[in-house]
Amino acid sequence: MKKAVISIDVEDWYHLEYFKDNLNDKSQSILEDGTNEFINIITEENIKATFFIVGELISSKLKLLKKIINQDHEISGHSFNHVRPLTQSLEEFKLDSTKLLVELKEKLNIINPGYRAPCFSLDDERLKILKELNYSYDSSKISAGFHPLYGSINIKQYKKVFDNVYTDKTFTEFELPTQRFLNKNIPISGGGYLRILPWFLFKYLLKKYLKENDTYFFFIHPFELTNKNISLPKDSSITSRLRFRIGRSKGASRFSKLIKILKKEGFEFVTFSDFNKEINNLK
Ligand SMILES: [Zn+2]
Repeated sequence: MKKAVISIDVEDWYHLEYFKDNLNDKSQSILEDGTNEFINIITEENIKATFFIVGELISSKLKLLKKIINQDHEISGHSFNHVRPLTQSLEEFKLDSTKLLVELKEKLNIINPGYRAPCFSLDDERLKILKELNYSYDSSKISAGFHPLYGSINIKQYKKVFDNVYTDKTFTEFELPTQRFLNKNIPISGGGYLRILPWFLFKYLLKKYLKENDTYFFFIHPFELTNKNISLPKDSSITSRLRFRIGRSKGASRFSKLIKILKKEGFEFVTFSDFNKEINNLK
């Protein structure tokens, strides 16, 4: 059966790369609103999902995280402070990823979690570090070379076991899906693309992809699922304001529509960790 994994990168609006230079106020938050909306939608659709949490938020969001675990969803890691790994030295990245592991284990009793890099900022050297630290998988690869912040993962020595799934003896990479259109690889996952592309185009590319592939991996962020107003830092640029606001009112309804399309196309919903266990059993 074809498999889909729905995931959310649990972070707040101030973790977004484009607000980092002009932050002075972290008191406003959209995290709980957006994450609860995500939980409402997947509960209504009766599916399990993977939540990638920023390490520094774990101790203040324990109640929410325990609710997620009690509902049988998976929790994995999304770096400790949401710093882009490619801006860190290998040593700094190793420290950051170790801190995240320890926090997940001590506060939530999670061992061998998965990982997703902020802004998909990862390369082969850093992937190797995750593997050595006993993370069990990563989902940061995306073949959309036009985005300036994305890193590049080659995983040449890995074996392809499903579409967009690559594995070696102890570690799996789940690549986020793109569809070829006008000579470009257009991401057909991610709240940003879901909000910004015209719906007919997104739907067209998605359906084309789903017909030709046996897996589909989706990610979204809390701020894309709630309309809650944030007064942005005064010196934020117009582009940043626009990127943050555009299509936010459509995020939740398009997300439910997307799940319905996946169901119609015969996809089964699993978490990354369940899928990874199945892959390990094939070995
Ligand atoms: Zn992020």
